[in-house]
Amino acid sequence: MNVQGILPYARTLLQEIVRSGDTVVDATAGNGHDTLFLANLVGDNGKVISCDIQDEAIMATNERIQKASMSKRVKLHHIGHEHLNQLPSFQTAEIRAAIFNLGYLPKGDKGITTTGDTTIQAIEQIYSKLSKEGRIVLVIYHGHPEGKIEKDDVLHYVSNLPQEEAHVASYQFINQRNNPPFVVVIEKR
Ligand code: SAM
Repeated sequence: MNVQGILPYARTLLQEIVRSGDTVVDATAGNGHDTLFLANLVGDNGKVISCDIQDEAIMATNERIQKASMSKRVKLHHIGHEHLNQLPSFQTAEIRAAIFNLGYLPKGDKGITTTGDTTIQAIEQIYSKLSKEGRIVLVIYHGHPEGKIEKDDVLHYVSNLPQEEAHVASYQFINQRNNPPFVVVIEKR
């Protein structure tokens, strides 16, 4: 396949704009793959604010970033992303980009998933701190029951962001079976 897959495309959207020294957010740390990817992009003077609600995810992400000697670039928080605005490091930051990899932790408890209302609260908080031309990238999984509700809630919210303020686009495979994940990107104008 030469067309970019969903996860590679989500990363392309981040890579295109994140520069050395930037502050970025991984709103769903999980196993830490995206946190590490972002840590590589922001360089020694940048910061990744990363959060998750599960011990397991915090431990896995911590281990991954320590192994890669990236701990200095990452601030890992055991909180829900709907509470990002309580972090002093977030309050004072201008955010260049954020990634949400929604759904449940791969190989983890499938009963613990992101939900529409808290995801939207976090998007609102990050959007208010986003730089001009900064991006929020969402990877939406809607093959599980909560994911379907979340998809509808999030799409309703982002579709109503004023066109004068933001570009909102989606990237998806439209001939795949079983509700494949897709990307939504919000770019502040
Ligand atoms: N980006 C991760 C990676 O690279 O491995 C995968 C993320 S996984 C699909 C989704 C994660 O979101 C889970 O680890 C889950 O615990 C987390 N999560 C669920 N609700 C959350 C919330 N309100 N705030 C932050 N993280 C949450």
